[in-house]
Amino acid sequence: MKNNINIVWFKRDLRTKDHAPLSEAAKNGSVIPLYIIEPKLWKLPDSSRRHWHFIHDCLLDLQIELSKLGAPLIIRIGEATEVLQQLYREIGSFTLWSHEETGNGWTYKRDIDVALWCRTNNITWHEKPSNGVVRRLKSRDGWAKLRNERMAQPIIEAPAAINPFTGLISSHNIPQKNHPMFGSIDIGSVQVGGRKEAIKTLDSFLKDRGRSYMKNISKPGISARHCSRLSAHISFGTLSVKEVEQATKAKMTSLEIENDSDAAFFYRNLSAFLSRLAWHCHFIQKLEQQPDIEFKCIHSAFEGMREPHFRQDFFEAWKTGNTGYPLIDACMRSLHANGWITFRMRAMLVSFASYDLWLDWRETAPFLAQLFTDYEPGIHYSQFQMQSGVTGMNAVRMYNPIKQSLDQDPQGKFIRRYVPELIDVKDSFIHEPWLMDKPPSNYPAPIIDHKVSIKHARSEISKRWKQEGFKAESKSANQKLGSRNKQPSRRKSLSKKEDSQLSLNL
Ligand SMILES: Cc1cc2nc3c(=O)[nH]c(=O)nc-3n(C[C@H](O)[C@H](O)[C@H](O)COP(=O)(O)OP(=O)(O)OC[C@H]3O[C@@H](n4cnc5c(N)ncnc54)[C@H](O)[C@@H]3O)c2cc1C
Repeated sequence: MKNNINIVWFKRDLRTKDHAPLSEAAKNGSVIPLYIIEPKLWKLPDSSRRHWHFIHDCLLDLQIELSKLGAPLIIRIGEATEVLQQLYREIGSFTLWSHEETGNGWTYKRDIDVALWCRTNNITWHEKPSNGVVRRLKSRDGWAKLRNERMAQPIIEAPAAINPFTGLISSHNIPQKNHPMFGSIDIGSVQVGGRKEAIKTLDSFLKDRGRSYMKNISKPGISARHCSRLSAHISFGTLSVKEVEQATKAKMTSLEIENDSDAAFFYRNLSAFLSRLAWHCHFIQKLEQQPDIEFKCIHSAFEGMREPHFRQDFFEAWKTGNTGYPLIDACMRSLHANGWITFRMRAMLVSFASYDLWLDWRETAPFLAQLFTDYEPGIHYSQFQMQSGVTGMNAVRMYNPIKQSLDQDPQGKFIRRYVPELIDVKDSFIHEPWLMDKPPSNYPAPIIDHKVSIKHARSEISKRWKQEGFKAESKSANQKLGSRNKQPSRRKSLSKKEDSQLSLNL
């Protein structure tokens, strides 16, 4: 065994299996597994106790896994470069190992600082790919192939044993879930984290829950059972995307062998699930290539469009679930209670904030990041920009909250669960209670008229499309960040179906 000291810096990869940095470090000498709790990160507007609660569970499992392998998890609290400097003073030179992280602007800058600290102190830092995201990618052409090749590589087993560092090295205890460092906002119930729970969740999805994934994916209530619910596990790395992808493909192979209609149905659902796993990497790749999409509209024509018109009262109504649109309010309140909602409802909430309330996405995005247990910056900011119509390269979709309500919650079960003011409202009025002779006095009237707001949004967005140079910038953004999957042919103009899903295609 070599005599080197290796620090494995765990970030959003809280597992020991399929963990290349740990596996490589273990071959290179003694290992100090390290998790750094960075107080400044926890003060950011997109951080919340909800994330910490999940991470706390993950760290407990990781501690057990690592101690079985022979090395304790060292917890340090402080800024990353300070912690590394402290360790350097305590143990002398070491090699640093971690996964590549595609995080928010703050972690991006922190990693630049860590790289500089390493260079200054002659420390080698090995960063290994985390998922299908390719660092320093020259062109999006061919990215999907590279990603799929990565996903097909063998799963890396956890090291059989780790040679622990034998010197004296101190560790903090894992801070309590309710430690004030992580803020004090009310967070309702939080999905359980940790590797054991991740495996259980994946198993139950592949065994049964995923069978009718597509049928239920958009329904705000039962989607919580039929969607995989793996997002937070993937975001904090209790499972790698590769592990999920390979387990899914193995299940699909066994379904193929069964060769009956039920199995074929399940197979199709899993195939749709696999494409979402690819989207995961596709969206994070955008942030990897253009880190400023957290702060700037992908298409510059949309800068300044909403900012001067920001209405704090609208923002408060949206945040608290008091807009007067029952499904919008139920979704927002359910997020406060549980920290998860399905894709379509996320898109609808953002569409309502961005088009109906004309709120700038840079104000609304950190707020939902705090509510989502699965907050993943690359997906989050890319999706926010898409659902706010500021990319200049995606179809513009304006969701009609009444149509969504009728389609996805026809009897208003979900609405009544989260908006108790409407509990006694009849089915015929549950989607539009303002039409009643006497609407419930404790529930607000709609704060805007959807049709009027959407007309305004269409006109403002169309105006920008028509600006000189718009298409050229769209084309170059698409070249840099766009998917290379062939899209079905798109209509060139605004859809007239104002009352359904407005679609404004480039
Ligand atoms: C405005 C907005 C913000 C979002 N923010 C996040 C976020 O911070 N973190 C996050 O993980 N997802 C985000 N999503 C994407 C999506 O809504 C969630 O991934 C999904 O609802 C998570 O539930 P699940 O794990 O049961 O998903 P499943 O439907 O079971 O999908 C499996 C996995 O595929 C990936 N995935 C699914 N849908 C998408 C998608 N549309 N884009 C990219 N990857 C996808 C996720 O990793 C997910 O865990 C956002 C969507 C919108 C519209």
